Amino acid sequence: MRAVVLHGQEDARLEHVPVPPVGRGEIRVRIQAALTCGTDLKVFRRGYHARMIVPPAIFGHEFAGVIDAIGADVAGWQPGDRVVAANSAPCGQCFYCDAGREELCEDLLFLNGAYAEYITVPERIVRRNLLRVPETLSFEAAALVEPLACAVHGVAETGVRTGETVAILGAGPLGLLLARGAVLVGARVLVLGRRAARLQAARAMGAVEALDVGSGVDPREWVQARTGGRGADRVIEAVGQPRVWEQAIALARPGGTVNLFGGCPAGTTVTVDTGRLHYDALTLLGSFHHTPRTIREALRLLAEGRVPAAVLIQERTALDELPDLLPRLARGDGPLKVAVRP
Ligand SMILES: [Zn+2]
Ligand SMILES: [Zn+2]
Repeated sequence: MRAVVLHGQEDARLEHVPVPPVGRGEIRVRIQAALTCGTDLKVFRRGYHARMIVPPAIFGHEFAGVIDAIGADVAGWQPGDRVVAANSAPCGQCFYCDAGREELCEDLLFLNGAYAEYITVPERIVRRNLLRVPETLSFEAAALVEPLACAVHGVAETGVRTGETVAILGAGPLGLLLARGAVLVGARVLVLGRRAARLQAARAMGAVEALDVGSGVDPREWVQARTGGRGADRVIEAVGQPRVWEQAIALARPGGTVNLFGGCPAGTTVTVDTGRLHYDALTLLGSFHHTPRTIREALRLLAEGRVPAAVLIQERTALDELPDLLPRLARGDGPLKVAVRP
């Protein structure tokens, strides 16, 4: 089969590799759509990801498709079933799994290999995080399950409630999904980001207003002017830069909550004004990844048509074209997400 293999920094190649075998408990999926993702682009620029992918390896982790082969001891699935799988599954047995914090599982099993014609889903993901895609949902929209589950998880961890004002920093795919997630909870969402097209996408996701942070307007004053001078009830950072983390903290009202959602480069630190944290009684938190519950919630929202997939999936490409497209996407000036069709 054809597959895009990551060999190292900015080095992804289309190759012919064997169709993966199907072992006990496993299911092989013929991929119908895979989506490019910011994490993949980060990995492409860096050449590896200690936890998620060690090259050489087939790249990509957001996909949906049709069951092609079923291993021994798998019940409840048929060849031809339309499915989507999460890119990980927790063990279900460790301290964190027991505590209901499965995203922190001590043995989270990751799956890569979506930029290919076929992928074999390991036994644990078949058991915990393989879901049926309804006929009414397209494969490319279904493939949004994983990033949307991260956003659903992030919004829930932030404690967003109906009627609150939520400021979201970042209008990339995750910032936009977080915006949508907060809108669906009934919040009034303000998005701060870059590039007119992405700010327009933020409004399409239901944000009431979007600020171009490159315009010279002070983000804090802009948010205060829209919150009776107080600041936002909840703030979510979806950029992943220490400087923006600090900005996010500055946008929250006294008593507010700030979710520092975007992962920063390893080893970086931020400075927090102790007076603000103490006297303004701020809550700062981080959130990471998704859980089997939010994976199911994400699929439900997509199936109900409550997340406009077309706002994010702006281009389509063949697998063969992907190695040439990745450098452009990695520069950040391309479409939000591209659907790759093997
Ligand atoms: Zn992703
Ligand atoms: Zn675990």
